[in-house]
Amino acid sequence: EEIPKIKIIDAKNFVGKTVTIGAWLRQKRGSGKIAFLQLRDGTAFFQGVVAKADVSEEVFETAKSLKQETSIYVTGEIHEDARSSFGYEMAVSDIKVIGESHDYPITPKEHGTEFLFDERHLYLRHLKPFATLKIRNTLVAATYEFFNKEGFTKLDAPVLTGSAPEGTTELFETDYFGEPAFLSQTGQLYAEAGAMAFGKVFTFGPTFRAEKSKTRRHLTEFWMIEPEMAFMDQEESLKLQERYIAFLISKVLENNDQELDILKRDKDLLRSYTQLPYPRVSYDDAVKLLQDNDFDVEWGVDFGSPEETFLANHFAKPVFIVNFPKAIKPFYMKRHKTRDDIVVSADLLAPEGYGEIIGGSERETDYDYLKNEIEKLGLNMDEYAWYLDLRKYGSVPHSGFGLGLERMVTFVTGEEHIREAIPFPRMTNRLRP
Ligand code: ATP
Ligand code: MG
Ligand code: MG
Ligand code: MG
Repeated sequence: EEIPKIKIIDAKNFVGKTVTIGAWLRQKRGSGKIAFLQLRDGTAFFQGVVAKADVSEEVFETAKSLKQETSIYVTGEIHEDARSSFGYEMAVSDIKVIGESHDYPITPKEHGTEFLFDERHLYLRHLKPFATLKIRNTLVAATYEFFNKEGFTKLDAPVLTGSAPEGTTELFETDYFGEPAFLSQTGQLYAEAGAMAFGKVFTFGPTFRAEKSKTRRHLTEFWMIEPEMAFMDQEESLKLQERYIAFLISKVLENNDQELDILKRDKDLLRSYTQLPYPRVSYDDAVKLLQDNDFDVEWGVDFGSPEETFLANHFAKPVFIVNFPKAIKPFYMKRHKTRDDIVVSADLLAPEGYGEIIGGSERETDYDYLKNEIEKLGLNMDEYAWYLDLRKYGSVPHSGFGLGLERMVTFVTGEEHIREAIPFPRMTNRLRP
């Protein structure tokens, strides 16, 4: 009878059966009579037990000779094992070595972070990155599911652009056949064109910012999801945003129980963040609240990390700060009806210090007003002619927002630093591997 080749993730269907799994050795320990192999097969982690009494001498010697990250075909009977976080182990009967491994650099001892990121191409194989990036994958899949369900069309924005909608200080410039071009810092303006054609769209792609400050929350290359909705005002947009965030968290709770255990993330706390609605606080009131709690802030400033952390923790939930000062927001945000010093905008701040996860607004709809704003900023009008066309031909109220995928990953996983949230992070001091 042929032995089935399986993945350990499917072990529940093979309990009591003999199977073969292609795997790598993480670690091993044991004595003269028994060897315990810590294995992973790309879907999960499991233990193989090799008892000298039950296998040929050759197989036992092979088990003892395995080095960290040697790849093998391992054959044996599957048993349930409540102690393992993935729930199964294998009573090994045979081992075939596929690829040897010598002097694997990431040994079981403690390593510094910089070293681990120098070895990121190998570090991906380890428990914590595995759990974090599996959760990232759930968030990506759930994003498509959510926006499909809500009737959105995915409409990609270009990465190479000729213009700089939010100022040039944070832009990466490159040469485009002799002409300067920029790596996109947002797909927003293109998404607006898409919304006028498809009603509700979202872009989902890499965005680039030459962020010179080193913080735990900023990458120079990150992935942004930018929905844009025609005929939608701020209130409807906030409802959509909170539905989206609650959906993402629910999907992770549903699909990533083991990963959340590996990362020691408090699941009840995460579940509490799926309770809607999220509080909405005006920027004005947020400033007062901060001042009452001894923060040295004045009306008109953008909040930094300590302020954002305080505000969301105060409500013990993600919180929307709405209607920011116009002076600190991009030109395309809509003027407030009765005040010209604020714009109809909202940032969603995550509790526990995970910072701003969404920035969004209603968009200005008036052609003359927008044109004037662009002129006041000294931007090149030729670059924005196409964007102004959107107000020239059937302008409608519309809203949109941007969610930073890696911010969401750190929030859901409880990772301390955003570099953990992307396979190969790009930061001021890191371009490799
Ligand atoms: P911050 O205030 O944290 O610098 P921002 O206001 O500059 O963020 P936006 O321009 O509003 O950011 O971008 C939308 C979203 O993209 C943010 O809410 C955040 O989730 C994410 N984001 C922005 N900059 C970065 C970055 N450098 N690295 C990772 N994610 C980012
Ligand atoms: Mg910023
Ligand atoms: Mg901000
Ligand atoms: Mg923002």
